[in-house]
Amino acid sequence: MIKYNFNAGPSMLPREVVEQTAAAVLDYDGKGLSLMELSHRSAEFKPILDEARALMKELLDVPAGYEVLFLGGGASMHFCMVPFNLLAKKAAYLNTGTWASKAIKEARLFGEVVEVASSADKAFSYIPKDFTVPADADYLHVTSNNTIYGTQLRRDIDSPVSLVADMSSDILSRPVDVSKYSCIYGGAQKNLAQSGLSFVIVKEDALGRVGRAIPSILDYRVHIANGSMFNTPPTLPIYTALCNLRWVKAQGGVPEMERRAAERAAVVYDEIERNALFCGTAAEEDRSYMNIDFVMAPGYEALEGGFIDFAVSRGVVAIKGHRSVGGFRASCYNAMPLEGARTLATCMKDFEKKVQG
Ligand SMILES: *Cc1c(COP(=O)(O)O)cnc(C)c1O
Repeated sequence: MIKYNFNAGPSMLPREVVEQTAAAVLDYDGKGLSLMELSHRSAEFKPILDEARALMKELLDVPAGYEVLFLGGGASMHFCMVPFNLLAKKAAYLNTGTWASKAIKEARLFGEVVEVASSADKAFSYIPKDFTVPADADYLHVTSNNTIYGTQLRRDIDSPVSLVADMSSDILSRPVDVSKYSCIYGGAQKNLAQSGLSFVIVKEDALGRVGRAIPSILDYRVHIANGSMFNTPPTLPIYTALCNLRWVKAQGGVPEMERRAAERAAVVYDEIERNALFCGTAAEEDRSYMNIDFVMAPGYEALEGGFIDFAVSRGVVAIKGHRSVGGFRASCYNAMPLEGARTLATCMKDFEKKVQG
């Protein structure tokens, strides 16, 4: 039986990317050595890093004046690196959930943080639209896709100040107007590679303005000056990222990823709406293409565990919702084939028939 992996992260990667990584672990490029055993300064690794950085720029249409970095640490490290490097006096943050709240907490260590709006009043089930950004803020921080709550900003919003975005869970799933941002960052383990790696796209002339001492390892300028090799980078995850970036390009690039994401999401959301047993939790206009959250409809709550078991019996795995919200979450990142979304929808239909007899 084919298994469809709906994990939120670390999550599904294209099968060929997993196989290419596995082959490189055993013997990289016929060299008789594992990629894990090669120096990051070696003639073999340098082209991997260079091509991965170049492909990020190419696929996301990154303008001149921006650099791409691949660092260890995960998205959470950038919750502190971003304000360390970019917050001189005041920054604006949009609070759309757990990850945004964590970013806000770290930023408060570095200056004044204005929370411009929050959707905490409705359990982060929507993205606030009416808010004012102070014109003297150094940046406005947004979380483009709220992995836990299943809401997504599917466009680059207008703001009087430049944007900073945590795009951990929707990078490479839609075209982005990078010129609106001074920094885009995220963990790699949702839509790019395995865990242990983070990515950053940073505008060079936004840096060096904070007037505080920054430890070298946390200074974006130091990483840029060292070509993303200030210290030993996570070499194997960078190779996986490269294989995945090549895969995205071969499939037709980011616009094609967006088309597929919309198609998959429609299959699942349509079934949630049609099916009497389930209901969605996110506001319709803010629903995420990447993480589809739903719960048992009122009166059917007791069937939650039963549906998870039924889904597993059909090869639909890891649809349990985040521990903080419960219910179900079907994460449909770039690697999820349309057939996976259809299998989940069929599973929901068949479960409804089974329950209603
Ligand atoms: C998963 C996730 C994070 C946390 O990433 P780490 O790499 O574990 O630090 C942060 N933000 C968003 C939007 C996420 O989905």
